[in-house]
Amino acid sequence: MRKDYLFTPGPTMVPPEVLLAMAQPVIHHRTAQFSAVFEEVNEGLKYLFQTTQPVLTFAASGTGAMEAAVANLLRSGEKALVVRGGKFGERWAEICQRYGIETVNIDIEWGRAVSPGEIEEALAREKGIKVVFTTHCETSTAVRTDIEAIARITRERDVLLVVDAVSALGAEELRFDAWGIDAVVSGAQKGIMLPPGLAFIALSERAQLKAQQGDLPNYYFSIPKALKSLEKQQTPYTPAVSLIIGLRVALGMIRDEGLENVWKRHALLAEATRAGLEALGLKLFSKAPSNVVTAFEVPEGIEAGRLRAVMRERYGANIAGGQAQLKDKICRIAHLGYMTESDTLLVLNTLELALRELGYACERGAASAAAVRVFESGKG
Ligand code: PMP
Repeated sequence: MRKDYLFTPGPTMVPPEVLLAMAQPVIHHRTAQFSAVFEEVNEGLKYLFQTTQPVLTFAASGTGAMEAAVANLLRSGEKALVVRGGKFGERWAEICQRYGIETVNIDIEWGRAVSPGEIEEALAREKGIKVVFTTHCETSTAVRTDIEAIARITRERDVLLVVDAVSALGAEELRFDAWGIDAVVSGAQKGIMLPPGLAFIALSERAQLKAQQGDLPNYYFSIPKALKSLEKQQTPYTPAVSLIIGLRVALGMIRDEGLENVWKRHALLAEATRAGLEALGLKLFSKAPSNVVTAFEVPEGIEAGRLRAVMRERYGANIAGGQAQLKDKICRIAHLGYMTESDTLLVLNTLELALRELGYACERGAASAAAVRVFESGKG
């Protein structure tokens, strides 16, 4: 018998109460019944994003919301600043390029976070930048960026700050209104604890205004159209009804736990994961570790693909490998969404079992002992 667990930074495990809610018969979306559900969901999303501004929902994966941001928040001929420190930062630049937007790129060595000073410098040096695109947790490198400090720079200028929090939302502290962010994009299959298929974008007043003046081509991802429908608790096109019904339950769970407690839980599991990995003698990859996912360097003599296969096939524990130039060099363990201390102990213990099976020398029980110490001290 095998029991499967997702320790990947998306998709993540979905709570049974959410799965059951989604198994209910589909309701029609142009009804008061659907609008009532959507209204509750939209209130829950505002709490999750910490905003009083509208949060739009698209039937898409997270990248759809990234595309919506580019296609609505820039005008042709404008320039954007993009932080490229991993695969997802690069994606911002690629989308901009598709829309004919010139980008100024800050290239950050993978594993490091951009410093607010680097953004300030680039804005001072390059004239005509209208939007800054950043990534809260760069999932490919497990790096967290200081969004609060970057927002302090952009909110005082005629520059919009757009943040990819596809993996960070619900895991890292994020205060949309208080920090003065202009747009945050996210997706369902990470901290929100749903299957893939929904994309979200929260928009500040100035971002909404800018979208009304947009001139780049778009159709499905029109922010003005989605904002107009939202006034009636509707979406312009058929929404992913069952996912939205599941979302109501997932957001209710987040509200019941309390968002600050959710953030603290992620910080604790991240701290325990790092302690456990280091106790196994593994080297952490990120210089600015996130609470979403932890990356470790695969030790000499061990093949990353083989390690992941043993964990998956023998123990049902799915962890992620490295992406692009980090393929075969790192593995990534998420502590994201529907996860508790028990899950963290499970993944650390199965990692230890798999490593030992592949001939890696480490002390039995070292990882879980280190994690237990973190849990007992309640750090994080
Ligand atoms: N940005 C980040 C930071 C992500 O982690 C991901 C998904 N791994 C994406 C964007 C893309 O999201 P999706 O695969 O849902 O389109």
